[in-house]
Amino acid sequence: MKVLVINAGSSSLKYQLMDPETGAVSAKGLCERIGIDGKFTYKAGGKTVIDAADVAMPTHAEGIQAVLDALVNPEYGVIASMDEIDAVGHRVLHGGAKFTESCLVDEACKQAIRDCIPLGPLHNPANLMGIEACEKVMPGKPQVAVFDTAFHMTMPAEAYTYAIPYEYYENDQVRRYGFHGTSHRYIAERALAMLGRTETPEGTKIINCHLGNGSSLCAIKDGKCVDTTMGLGPLAGIPMGTRCGDIDATIMEYLMGRYGYDIGQMMNILNKKSGVLGISGVSSDFRDLEAAEKEGNARAKLALDKFFYEVRKAIGAYAAAMGGVDAIVFTAGVGENGIANRARIMKGLEYLGAKIDPEKNNTRGVEAEISTADSKVKIFVIPTNEELMIAKDTARLAK
Ligand code: AMP
Repeated sequence: MKVLVINAGSSSLKYQLMDPETGAVSAKGLCERIGIDGKFTYKAGGKTVIDAADVAMPTHAEGIQAVLDALVNPEYGVIASMDEIDAVGHRVLHGGAKFTESCLVDEACKQAIRDCIPLGPLHNPANLMGIEACEKVMPGKPQVAVFDTAFHMTMPAEAYTYAIPYEYYENDQVRRYGFHGTSHRYIAERALAMLGRTETPEGTKIINCHLGNGSSLCAIKDGKCVDTTMGLGPLAGIPMGTRCGDIDATIMEYLMGRYGYDIGQMMNILNKKSGVLGISGVSSDFRDLEAAEKEGNARAKLALDKFFYEVRKAIGAYAAAMGGVDAIVFTAGVGENGIANRARIMKGLEYLGAKIDPEKNNTRGVEAEISTADSKVKIFVIPTNEELMIAKDTARLAK
């Protein structure tokens, strides 16, 4: 079976053709600058076969068409015809409280994604464009929507309720939703397998640290999400590459008053100019920050220290929320690759019974246990694979 996994943004579209059983990727790439001057990349057999600029791509539909043309190309394609694609799986940002799991795309599903546009104003319209482009270019092909929010819908009310007038929840759906849910769900499955608890998840307590350019932590009890750091939107929680994470809302009123910013300017500062970039003034990229810190840049050091401090605090909070922890997992760019970063986060968490082994921690990008033999809490590195999760859901629902 072959599933085409699509992650559509407003002017970009990432794709992978994948076997949902083995996770083998036969081809992947990116359509960029859709509606501008069109850029197209296509990789197959481990090589970049196409890297073309100025590709006519006025809408997402031409992007999907370019993907299909490449996939069936007699010279470098990986399938003989479009019929070999069994189904298409889409990453969709916001499913509101309605979607507790993935769904087969039909008119009702599309309308529900549309209804969630106010909650995901940047992503949901783009995700819909991806779905409609596939409908146009591959009519009748089963499509599945996989929501970033769905895994978090098992949170109890005390975790998802904000302490603001309750009518905003009742009338306006203001609550914690959380994101990176497909990644957290994949990690939950893998961590349970590594604990030998796939068949008996009851009683397990896992804290997953998805640390990348965007970052969130998730508390996973009995294999289900019970809390997560992101909120109504992906700005909340721990500081990120350029996003502020949790801040006192008074800061907004204060700065808007002092500088005359409107809400759009204020949100732009909090989304694009804050986080470790904002503190350091150097970069949002953790490798740049580590390099600057080594050269003695005090603000780069402060940005890293702040990030590690907030991750450590969130781990402590989730251990308290679940009444303990069996496994702490690191994933995404920083979590999978940041050897020194993992060590700095775990420093001070020994009281939880979590001890990192410096030698085992010297690993990158592969599944590994990095805790000492006598550590009560297992510490794992697990490379995330959202695409595989999307492909698996798609295969299951499209059958
Ligand atoms: P992601 O958003 O998951 O792609 O993660 C991107 C982040 O991972 C960037 O801040 C990178 O600096 C960081 N990253 C990637 N490789 C490494 C590495 N070897 N050491 C530290 N951070 C890394």
